[in-house]
Amino acid sequence: MTSRISGMFGRKEDSSRESSRDDQKATNGATARPTQPSRQASVTKANAASTPYRRFWTNDDATHEHHLKVAKRQEKLSDMFQNLMLGKKKEGHNDEQPLSLMSNWVDVMRNEKEKLAEQKNSANNTSQTLVQKYGKCQEVVGRGAFGIVRVAHKTDAKDPKREQLYAVKEFKQRPGESAKKYQKRLTAEFCISSSMQHPNVINTLDLLQDDKGVYCEVMEYCSGGDLYTLVLAAGQLEVVEADCFFKQLMRGVEYMHEMGVAHRDLKPENLLLTQHGSIKITDFGNGECFRMAWEKEAHMTAGLCGSAPYIAPEEYVDKEFDPRAVDVWACGIIYMAMRTGRHLWRVAQKGEDEFFDRYLEDRKEEAGYRPIEVLRRRQCRNVIYSILDPNPTRRLTAHQVLFSEWVKEIKVCRAGDEGF
Ligand SMILES: [Zn+2]
Repeated sequence: MTSRISGMFGRKEDSSRESSRDDQKATNGATARPTQPSRQASVTKANAASTPYRRFWTNDDATHEHHLKVAKRQEKLSDMFQNLMLGKKKEGHNDEQPLSLMSNWVDVMRNEKEKLAEQKNSANNTSQTLVQKYGKCQEVVGRGAFGIVRVAHKTDAKDPKREQLYAVKEFKQRPGESAKKYQKRLTAEFCISSSMQHPNVINTLDLLQDDKGVYCEVMEYCSGGDLYTLVLAAGQLEVVEADCFFKQLMRGVEYMHEMGVAHRDLKPENLLLTQHGSIKITDFGNGECFRMAWEKEAHMTAGLCGSAPYIAPEEYVDKEFDPRAVDVWACGIIYMAMRTGRHLWRVAQKGEDEFFDRYLEDRKEEAGYRPIEVLRRRQCRNVIYSILDPNPTRRLTAHQVLFSEWVKEIKVCRAGDEGF
């Protein structure tokens, strides 16, 4: 079982190299760091002994800290991509491919390389108003399928040495998308995200057009990158680290659901991180208001939506379903991806996926489903089985997850609590 997990990316030497690069960089930083990361070795199995682990550590008072550096991660992912393209696959890696988080990523990277030149040219073409309000858009930090995300640097009027950073996300019309649909997506994204105020939901500040008429959404900037690349580069996360992110995620989801909003496309790519490890739910393009403020009952939703491995089984079967239950299901898959570095199945559709079929059988058995049984704590496994309950009416709600014995005991760091 251990080889099954660690075999996911199977590149220990790469990850330790990343750690040492991080260490060098970290010593130059101004951030206060514990001088003796005494418990690191005990919580770190993968990189034990030789290199200290710097992305995450536990302090002596049982609190923990994250220190996320997106630049280093991109560097490593770039190396991984190059190796993959050159066919330098490690032995034992191939059989892990079907559920690898990497398969989507390779496609994304390919497209990115092709688009890179074009995007470089358009980097400075933003309008005066956008520039005046939020500063010049510079480096590209993310690429969605239909627009890129850049960082805008706004110099502080009082102190020119300081600058405020914003993420500026292009919101382009998809090829073949009707004006009406585009408008709906734009409205969903902006109205929903700008109405929410929570430490674990991205703070959206503005929506305006650039000089090409493309709508741009201005959001708080998260320098820790996204959870997807973090897991991809790390292979798998530490238990305490994954638990902290999971609780933050559930808090954000509970808040959204209380506000009458379902996300409908929760996946690690849509979870941004601050440098200190606060999770921010983003990308509400598929979001849905299932209940208006004056209504008591939630509306059901129809129509498949989201990314295959995260889609709940009822979406394939039922004409209508509760979008909140669909969000909770996705959170269960996200937790498993953090802990094991892989997807549980390609698609949660009975008869279409051998892994999902096996899960449906095994979850009824005493011995359980192997990939979930690797979670050491029984209370944790029970919650995951109850989140991944194929029957959406039996599935836990976000609120119930937060009040489960396991999640109540999870200690979130201060960054996660406060959202910095
Ligand atoms: Zn934390």
